[in-house]
Amino acid sequence: MNLIDNAKHQGKRKKLILALRSMGIESEQVLQAMLKVPRHYFLDSSFEDFAYQNKAFPIGTEQTISHPYTVAFQSEVLNINKGDKVLEIGTGSGYQTAVLFHLGAQVYSIERQHILYNKSKRLLAEMRVKCYLHYGDGYNGLPDKAPFNKIIVTAGAPSIPEVLFNQLSVGGSMIIPLGEKEQIMTLLIKTTEKTYKKFEFDNYNERHFQFVPMLKNKR
Ligand code: SAH
Repeated sequence: MNLIDNAKHQGKRKKLILALRSMGIESEQVLQAMLKVPRHYFLDSSFEDFAYQNKAFPIGTEQTISHPYTVAFQSEVLNINKGDKVLEIGTGSGYQTAVLFHLGAQVYSIERQHILYNKSKRLLAEMRVKCYLHYGDGYNGLPDKAPFNKIIVTAGAPSIPEVLFNQLSVGGSMIIPLGEKEQIMTLLIKTTEKTYKKFEFDNYNERHFQFVPMLKNKR
């Protein structure tokens, strides 16, 4: 792999961070973490010039890397503390995984597309991003590694996946785009083993971001 992060890339990344700030992202930790992660490593080299625009791009197998704003927003809302055990559903390109790692999280991430799982595994190892990657169905979570302080779902789910909720520790939170055709970005804060508080981000939804669906039983 030929990982080069030159002054031009770094300059574009700084501009992207300014753009995210102007779009309302306030967490310095999140902005600093995103400044550290070269997003162009996660895209095919033919898209390299677009890596620092606020856009989603194809990463193979009909999937897309999340918008930088989505990554920033989901990371900010989760309020990651150093050492938090975080479960990500939908590793995809691995970009969000790398951002979570730079926020100091212990990251566990699941991907159901084998090609993407392999690609991300190689890239993240090369970048020395320490994380636990799992090939499988995110609807099952990772029972052996549970409970998690935070769960981030990066694909749109029709309803709250109960198995994932059960793998969240009390006091923990889950950020998940919920809905069949269109999704509403939703934060769940687990208050007891059986109950949660729910916050929906309407403003976020007005930006009309769409998610690839969270699909069941690939294997
Ligand atoms: N965080 C990723 C987002 C990729 S898009 C990035 O920034 O690159 C969402 C990803 O979720 C896709 O890679 C898709 O294959 C994956 N996905 C969809 N349903 C899934 C499931 N049930 N389990 C695990 N991964 C799933």
